[in-house]
Amino acid sequence: MKSFSKDQKLKELVRIARELGAAEAGIVSPNDIFVEDALADLCRKPRCPAFGLSAGCPPHVSGPAGFREMKKRMRHAIVIKIDVPASVLFSDQRIDIMRFLHETASEIERSAVGMGYSESRAFAGGSCKTLFCRDYAECRVISERGACRRPESARPSMSGFGINVSKLLQAAGFNGEFQTEAAYDDEESMSWVAGLIALA
Ligand code: SF4
Repeated sequence: MKSFSKDQKLKELVRIARELGAAEAGIVSPNDIFVEDALADLCRKPRCPAFGLSAGCPPHVSGPAGFREMKKRMRHAIVIKIDVPASVLFSDQRIDIMRFLHETASEIERSAVGMGYSESRAFAGGSCKTLFCRDYAECRVISERGACRRPESARPSMSGFGINVSKLLQAAGFNGEFQTEAAYDDEESMSWVAGLIALA
């Protein structure tokens, strides 16, 4: 394994993120990650359809309190943004986009671990039950019938930790408004999905 300085490692991780397909990738400080209990509460009320269905969603994740603890050990974080036409994001292809987000974030996490950030953890969006285990009755982890079926890809959703994604993207210097489903019919309209890789 090539030996990198800290700055080289961060640059290399950004390069890898872009090579994997992120339209934008940037480094932020742990202090730039705002965690809000009220945002995490939205998973429970109004209840997300995926609430409680997987090990990657509340109440099975450590939530805002756990993330605040993790921030104490975190050295840096990488934010990634994947641009997607709104007409695709709000179509049947959404599931492929969200899987790609999980796969990209987990691949960057593996690269970070390989560079010595051994406790790095990636976060994505959406429920891994919907994305990877939709054909199974239960999440194998929470049913205690075995290990995760997709440990190489499935990552917890940022929502369950109360991470303020808008502020995160601003801190990373990205622009781009999130287009809601109302933009579905506009083929020109772009939207995005985002992930976070905590380097520790
Ligand atoms: S077994 Fe499936 S639902 Fe459970 S954590 Fe793994 S990918 Fe998610």
